[in-house]
Amino acid sequence: MQDRIKKIRNRIKEAALSCGRDPSTMRLVAVSKTVSSKNVKAAVEAGVFIFGENYIQEAMQKIDKIADSRLSWHFIGHLQSNKAKYVVRYFDLIHSVDTLKLAKEINRQAKKLDKIQKILVQVNIAMEATKSGVATKDTISLIKDISKLENLSVKGLMTMPPFFNQPEKVRPYFKTLSQLQHQIRQESIENIEMKELSMGMTGDFEVAIEEGATLVRIGTAIFGDRS
Ligand SMILES: *Cc1c(COP(=O)(O)O)cnc(C)c1O
Repeated sequence: MQDRIKKIRNRIKEAALSCGRDPSTMRLVAVSKTVSSKNVKAAVEAGVFIFGENYIQEAMQKIDKIADSRLSWHFIGHLQSNKAKYVVRYFDLIHSVDTLKLAKEINRQAKKLDKIQKILVQVNIAMEATKSGVATKDTISLIKDISKLENLSVKGLMTMPPFFNQPEKVRPYFKTLSQLQHQIRQESIENIEMKELSMGMTGDFEVAIEEGATLVRIGTAIFGDRS
């Protein structure tokens, strides 16, 4: 595992340098869905401190079991409003907010805990029916609505593009997310930061970095195939 993580870090660095970006501005999110707490701990030993989880039940058990306050847990899966209370309790950053209804419920739960919950807005650029995310054209209006919710802090955008075997084919989707980020910045919406772009996975993270990713979500290349 140590070796795999070292290789990934090197590839991130190479990709950053190849396009003139500072590697320290991008962070590795190790996607640990279906991965045992033992293997998560091995990744921690290798110097990984941010983990991404998709399933709330599985995640809560794992987070409680590992109980390591150095770790930052990110929720990257599809989120239903009725699970918001758990996610707010366990996660530092939620990557997958895509409706005002969900945002309001997260805000309500965060308020109860006296927490400012950091979130990203997930965009469904290709409008795939099977994927979550707000449509590109509706993103600014959603963010304007969310900006009024006092216990939420929007840090940026996330996307999950269609699957292709060739990473080059994914580039246009990453580009669109980056353009949307710039467009939102120009709106200067109060209470909205557009610092983070969560994009890129095992098969395409280098292309994502070239297009401006600050958070890459990598599972398979670190933990192996999920059976
Ligand atoms: C599983 C998952 C990943 C990691 O995918 P790999 O191809 O294993 O790197 C990244 N992002 C999300 C939202 C995921 O569900």
